[in-house]
Amino acid sequence: MRKTRYAAAAVAAVAALTLSACGGGDSPESEGGGGGEGGGETLRIGIKFDQPGLGYDEGGSYSGFDVDVAKYVAAELGVSEENIEFVEAPSANRENLLANEQVDMIFATYSITDTRKETVDFAGPYFVAGQDLLVPTDSDITGPEDLEGKNLCSVTGSTSAQKIKDQYPGVQLVEQPGYAECVTAMGGGQIDAVTTDDIILAGLAAQEANAGKFKVVGNTFSEENYGVGLPKGSDRCGDINSAITKMIGDGSWEEAITSNTEGADYTYNAELNPPTPEPCA
Ligand code: GLU
Repeated sequence: MRKTRYAAAAVAAVAALTLSACGGGDSPESEGGGGGEGGGETLRIGIKFDQPGLGYDEGGSYSGFDVDVAKYVAAELGVSEENIEFVEAPSANRENLLANEQVDMIFATYSITDTRKETVDFAGPYFVAGQDLLVPTDSDITGPEDLEGKNLCSVTGSTSAQKIKDQYPGVQLVEQPGYAECVTAMGGGQIDAVTTDDIILAGLAAQEANAGKFKVVGNTFSEENYGVGLPKGSDRCGDINSAITKMIGDGSWEEAITSNTEGADYTYNAELNPPTPEPCA
């Protein structure tokens, strides 16, 4: 996956340059954010730093599908790549980061839910994933019904952990701040399975250090619509939805999802993807 992520970053960089070079005419001005030194607007964008293929910090350079969608959308809003400040947005901190205006928007495998809509706004969705399980290669767990009395790891503040609490109360749920910590614990034998969205699990399983150790069960039990988190009352939703629609229409979406999942054992659900953004609130 490593090599293809770099390739994807290079393609995205060229695409962003091209867009900012010829754009401007019909790109809306982005409000808020500080002015850059050259007069360009800046955007603070929340992403995951520890989810390979989605949002991943490779020593200060960021890769993944969420990052590529964020860069495309930013370019459409008139913000070039060098004026994006990527900020880590762990699952449990996303609503607070938006409410406290520590970020302008969030692209972080962030499912649109009615509960979250009480405190934040969403543009999108730009992707649909499904909750699944990651287990050791020799495990015979095939779904959440097999987890009774087993140790299952997920992340605080995620829909994944919430669903287990609501629907599978007999499972011993262990919560960590990030999915990478869950996978490490499973490697050490303390955990029987890790649960979250299939695309996140596939990216972690494909990491070099995890090669051959784990498998994604491949039996999804939810629909996770990834939205762009915005502070409540933001007026950016319509422009972001237009950018997502354009990204899907011009082939960049397909290129981004393909390059960022290459090398992982993952195929997106083609019946649900690419999705159509919902009308803004
Ligand atoms: N998509 C789910 C959520 O928004 C799980 C992944 C995550 O924690 O980012 O909670």
